This record gives sequence, C-alpha cells and structure tokens, in this order.
Amino acid sequence: MTTTSTTKPLIEMRDVRKSFGTYDVLNGIALDVREGGVVCIIGPSGSGKSTILRCINGLIPVNSGTIRVGDFAVEAMKTDRELIALRHQVAMVFQQYNLFPHRTVMQNLTMAPIQVLKENPADVRERALKLLAKVRLTGKEDAYPSQLSGGQQQRVAIARALAMQPRVILFDEVTAALDPEMVSEVLNVIRDLAGEGMTCVLVTHEMRFAQEVADEVFFTDRGVIVERGPPKQLFQSPNDPRLKDFLDKVL
Ligand code: ADP
Ligand code: MG
Repeated sequence: MTTTSTTKPLIEMRDVRKSFGTYDVLNGIALDVREGGVVCIIGPSGSGKSTILRCINGLIPVNSGTIRVGDFAVEAMKTDRELIALRHQVAMVFQQYNLFPHRTVMQNLTMAPIQVLKENPADVRERALKLLAKVRLTGKEDAYPSQLSGGQQQRVAIARALAMQPRVILFDEVTAALDPEMVSEVLNVIRDLAGEGMTCVLVTHEMRFAQEVADEVFFTDRGVIVERGPPKQLFQSPNDPRLKDFLDKVL
C-alpha cells in the first residue's frame, strides 16, 4: 500500500467558480474530504453552501475549476449515464425531505436501487429493512410519508440515501425545517453514521453538532472559503473578522 492511495481525499474541489448570469456565486472554492471524514460547511445565508453541494453531485455544472469524487471528474460529466453513476456514489439529503408522497416508505427506499441500479429486488428489500432499523423506524415500511412526522420523514430520506450504498452523503440543512423536538432524532442518526465511518459533508446551522462531529469545518462567505480548520480552532479561536462576526450572531 502506498501512502498516496491512503491519503488521497475522496472529494477534491479546486478553484471552483460558478455564476448564475452575471452573479458570481462561487469564487474559487477549494475543499477536500477524506474517505470516512466528516466535514461541515457553515456560513451566512446566500454564501454559496448549497451551491457547493450541488456542484459536488453534478446537479449544476460549474464554470471552471475541477471537482474530483473518487475517480470521477465531475466537472466534465455531462451524459445522464455519467451523472447516474456519480449519484450512485454521492447521495444527497435535502431540507425538505423530497420523499415520493404517493409511495410507501419501503417503495421510497427501494425504487432507485431496483429501477436505476437494477439490483435484485429481494436483496434491496432486505437491505431496506436493515436501514429502517438503523434510522429507528422499524415497522414503518408500509406507511406513507404524510403519515409520518417531519423528523421521521427526514430519517426515511437518510435511509433512502443509504439504500444507494453511496461513498459519501451530502446533507443540506437537513434539520432546518424541523420542529425543535425532532432535530435531535435526526442528528442522532447522522452522528451514528459519522461514527461508523460514513463520509459526510454537512451544511448546517447546528453549531454545537458541527463542533462535536466534524473533523474539519469550512466557513464560507460570498462564495469563498474564508477559513477552514478543526472545529475547536474555528469556533474557539477564529481568525477572520467575518467568521468572528458570524459566530457572534449564531452562537
Ligand atoms: P446558501 O446555501 O449558502 O444559503 P446558495 O448556494 O443557495 O447559498 O446560494 C448562493 C447565492 O446564489 C444566493 O444569492 C442565491 O440566491 C444564488 N442562487 C442559487 N441558486 C441560483 C440559481 N439557480 N439561479 C440564480 N441564483 C441562484
Ligand atoms: Mg443553502
């Protein structure tokens, strides 16, 4: 085993730029995530956090720069086939769950692996039951999303992401739409995943959680990474005045 193969990050963004029309949203983002790493992205609203995640899983094309995920050069991916292969490895969970409302929990978990990845249905169902246990929703396989609380729906969304057996999961403010009492049940599931070595990239406003689970925190402001470092350093001795100002407002 060579040292380079063990230290090469799973995700590597270099000088990524993205504009919408004349509006420059990302102005040269560099970010890397090692396999098994947990990275949190924090920053003011509109600073480009969601755009970073959307670029990583190829939901939006970049203007320039490179994004490597494993062996994929994401910036060069164009065909549906390439993008499906990428999203098999890079799952994403959104603030608004995005479950299929007219499908049961079990169908939500099994549709993509069966229809897109062409996996054996019996195997996929068996895996789905294990994933429901993991997100503490045993017995809910026949429920419809509308019969579940927000926290339960979000845990189904996490199980659905896991059902694809991805190499990394991107979480975009997944607790932001939840009532306060449901936040911790979702964070507990993410904490378990992080502890099991799942590579996670989390955009979050839960600063205490970020401090607890992250290996590294990236602070974005106006489309640049202003400061990055281990959570303790970033939260307890921030250098950049923009980060200090942000932490004053949110902590
Ligand atoms: P954050 O997640 O940090 O709040 P976003 O990445 O969602 O920020 O957005 C960054 C900026 O880009 C915002 O000003 C937003 O309005 C703008 N933006 C995001 N997506 C689009 C789009 N599809 N078209 C035009 N502007 C967009
Ligand atoms: Mg966002």
